[in-house]
Formats: sequence, structure tokens, C-alpha cells
Amino acid sequence: MTSVARKVRREQDQTIGLVPTMGALHDGHLSLVREARRMCDVVVVSVFVNPTQFAFGEDFERYPRDLTKDAAVLTDYNVDYIFAPTIEEIYPKDFSTYVTVGGLSEQFEGASRPGHFRGVATVVAILLNVVRPDFAFFGQKDAQQTLVVKRLVRDLAFETEIVVLPTVREESGLALSSRNAYLDEDERRAAVVLYRALSRAREVYNEGERSASRLAASVTATVAAEPLAQLDYVSVTDADTFESLEKLDDRPVLIALAVHLGKTRLIDNLVLNRKKNGVSTANS
Ligand code: AMP
Repeated sequence: MTSVARKVRREQDQTIGLVPTMGALHDGHLSLVREARRMCDVVVVSVFVNPTQFAFGEDFERYPRDLTKDAAVLTDYNVDYIFAPTIEEIYPKDFSTYVTVGGLSEQFEGASRPGHFRGVATVVAILLNVVRPDFAFFGQKDAQQTLVVKRLVRDLAFETEIVVLPTVREESGLALSSRNAYLDEDERRAAVVLYRALSRAREVYNEGERSASRLAASVTATVAAEPLAQLDYVSVTDADTFESLEKLDDRPVLIALAVHLGKTRLIDNLVLNRKKNGVSTANS
């Protein structure tokens, strides 16, 4: 399969867009596919549940997999290639080369999920080398991942531009995620607390609060009010560098959180004060 992907790349004198996914596709993934289709001549969607990015004891075995359904969904999106390698194709016997993005990988998601970003950076490096896309598409939903991948691409001089697209949400505000499938009815209702906490923090920010710890406290209080939810972490950082902030200034701010609902762990985030055409916006 990797040799087919390499051949595709060599034969193309056209722009190639890659959308890396772990499958169980939903509208969040499909928004990336749509933009790839709009921007690129050739669209490759990879579907690979990457074992190295699951920390010990996480949900690798039970992660939802349905390639037949994913392939059927993608036929409506005019995708050129679905790249669904086996584990052995990506990690041949005696595989021993890993990519570590220092600093950025160690906090927050990285601290809660040891080895996670090493797995992400390694598989993304392999996928970029196999497909050699001009553009690769990622979701803002995984904010820290987008920063790790951008740093990887810059530091190792990959010739791929990373495109980050907004988080797609249900009407309730719940961010779409393959892991939402794990939630029972009560947990699903409770899961809206992630977006509620972020929205409340945005209100507090809009009312003039500029202390990072007070914004974090607002998120903590909102999550604490939901009995089924348990906060893992909340971070308030510079949205571009991921530096922790105390006093917020005119830089864009990323507020991110991870929450346990029963056995399921969900993440979400929003960016405040991102200026578009000189105008401040809060986007999600
Ligand atoms: P995953 O299959 O969870 O590894 O996700 C594959 C890509 O889809 C990643 O770049 C994610 O950030 C992105 N993604 C996942 N959920 C969403 C969402 N709700 N909105 C936008 N992008 C998403």
C-alpha cells in the first residue's frame, strides 16, 4: 500500500492534499475533506488507528473502526485515494525511529497521555514522507496537536503546508469526536459541559477579565457543577506558542480542557482574541 501511495505522488504534477484520520468519520473529518477538495487537485484521506499515540491503558483496542462505512461516506466527497495501511506497513518489524517534538509535547495533553505526541509526530512524519502532500489538513479540535505538527514540519523542513480548520460542533455545542460514540445517554447530555465551560470563560473574558487563572477558575467551576464530569486539566496559553500566560494581553489566547465522563475522556478548546483583518474575533 505504501508503494502505491508513493507511485501516486510521483505521477502527479498536481497539488496533493492529505487528510490524516483514525477513521470513524464524522462531519468534523468531512469538513477537512471538503476543504482539501476545494484547495487541491488530488485528495488523499488516510485512515489509520495509530497504536503509538495511545498511552498505556487507553482505548486502542476498542477505538471504533469501520473502514467499509468510512469508504462509503468518502465516495460522496470525490476523494481520490483512501490510504488505509496495516500496522505492519507503517511500523515494520524492528521499527525503531521515533520523532519527539520537545517542549510542546510535554504539557497538558502530553502530560495526561504519556507518549501521545511522540506517536502523533512519528506517524505524521511517516504519512508526510509517504504521500508528500502540498497541504495537510488538521482540526482545531486537537489544538495542541496542530502546534506539535506545525513545529515538526518546520523543524524537519517538510515541504507541506499545515492547514488548520475550525471545530465542527453539534447544535448543543458538543464538539464532534469519534469518542462521543462511547457515551451513554446521560454522559452525552453531560458532555455539553465542555462547551458550556468554554463559552462561560469567553463571556468572562468579554466582560474584561484578563487574569488567566481567573478564566481557568471559571472553567473549573462550570465543570465542577456537572456531577458526571471530572476535569482533567484546563490550560490558558498563548494560542500560537502554547506558552502559559498569567496576564492576558493582545495575543490570541487558547483555552483548552480535557474532561472525563465515566470511562470516556473528551477534549475541547477555543481561541479568544484572534484578529482577522485587524478585527478581534473569538472563534471555536
Ligand atoms: P482523528 O480521527 O480523531 O485523529 O481526527 C482526524 C482529524 O480530524 C484531526 O486533525 C482532528 O483534529 C480533526 N477533527 C476531529 N474532530 C473534529 C471536529 N469536531 N471538527 C474539526 N476537526 C476535527
